Amino acid sequence: MTVATDNDINADDVTSMIAAQIAADGPLSLATYIERALATPDVGYYQSGDPFGREGDFITAPEISGLFGEMCGLFLAHMFELGQPLDTGAEKPQPAIIECGPGRGTLMADMQHVWGQLMPELAACHIHLIETSPYLRTIQQQTLTESVIHWHDDLSALPAAPLYGIANEFFDALPVAHAICREGIWRHRLVIADPDLGFGEGTPLTATELDRWHLSNKAASPDGTVAELCILGEDIMHILAAHIATYGGAILIIDYGKSDNIGDTVQAVSAHKPVDLFYQPGQVDISHWVDFNALADCALAAGARLIGPVEQGTFLAKIGLKARAEQAATHAAPDMRRALLAAYDRLVSPAQMGSAFKVALLVPQGEGTPPGFMNNDIKTEAVSPAERGDG
Ligand code: SAH
Repeated sequence: MTVATDNDINADDVTSMIAAQIAADGPLSLATYIERALATPDVGYYQSGDPFGREGDFITAPEISGLFGEMCGLFLAHMFELGQPLDTGAEKPQPAIIECGPGRGTLMADMQHVWGQLMPELAACHIHLIETSPYLRTIQQQTLTESVIHWHDDLSALPAAPLYGIANEFFDALPVAHAICREGIWRHRLVIADPDLGFGEGTPLTATELDRWHLSNKAASPDGTVAELCILGEDIMHILAAHIATYGGAILIIDYGKSDNIGDTVQAVSAHKPVDLFYQPGQVDISHWVDFNALADCALAAGARLIGPVEQGTFLAKIGLKARAEQAATHAAPDMRRALLAAYDRLVSPAQMGSAFKVALLVPQGEGTPPGFMNNDIKTEAVSPAERGDG
């Protein structure tokens, strides 16, 4: 395993690699371009460096405050308690913990801390981390020294056990493809080299593709409208949901997102500032807004339920973040108190992360609404393609 120690790769390497591939094979789908930029071994964005924090390109909720992981840990402990079979004396299935895209491992460490105090059964479980970056795996290992950890590149070898866990800002980092509407016809939106990298347009979507893109029966869209499809995200949700339907458990999915796939939501960010999508691939973060409706359809199709999404601010308020922040602040020195309240504000305020970020919960089929959600957050049947994407 090669572990780079800093992000010293020449961005031209990735650009020329992509341009060479286009010269050899023709234009790429946007998803392939993003996959090359983020995940090419050694030189992809997530492969060789640490993008997080004030010094990095972006900051995530667990890196803002330990309160975020604490509240998620409490919530999952509650779900674990609810999911326990009545005590019949029979042996209970041993659960496992999962995190998709754990970054620095901060969120898992904060959840482990809470479980260590309140739910030792969860603290003792094996942890399964879905992580493709060798560099971030070494950081996760340093952060999570107390636990038994199994790393996975993908979801093909999950343990046959109830799964409790989380995916925070994971689905948004997966490659997304674009289609674009021209004179009433949806076409693939491709990446070309002419000679610089940029967008081009390809063949019309076939009837099967229109269905796959949730676009069949959709009313005509204005010229230039973009639709998005994250096949890897849908495949991953399908596997997680089938697993939860079979073995039980609960997984929180938290991401910036919306409930349709219409509009170009892809953004490239470097040092906390937006940059052009084709600027220095491999050196900048690329993400998109997650289509929670598509994920909920996958969950239903696999026999599970995706409850939500609700806004992160609403969810955290409902599960008691304010009281927890105030309690922590009363024991803190003035500087620390100000930092805590600023972190609270950043997590829940609609102007910051509170509205754009959404929370959903993957659970087996059944009745009941968990804390943090409301009855009408529960989707019971797939939305027809005609209803999708019109909002
Ligand atoms: N959850 C963390 C980090 C989110 S960043 C936090 O909240 O701070 C996205 C994470 O997903 C990184 O750890 C990245 O390496 C990982 N990742 C991205 N694409 C992946 C893929 N296809 N399979 C597995 N992990 C992936």
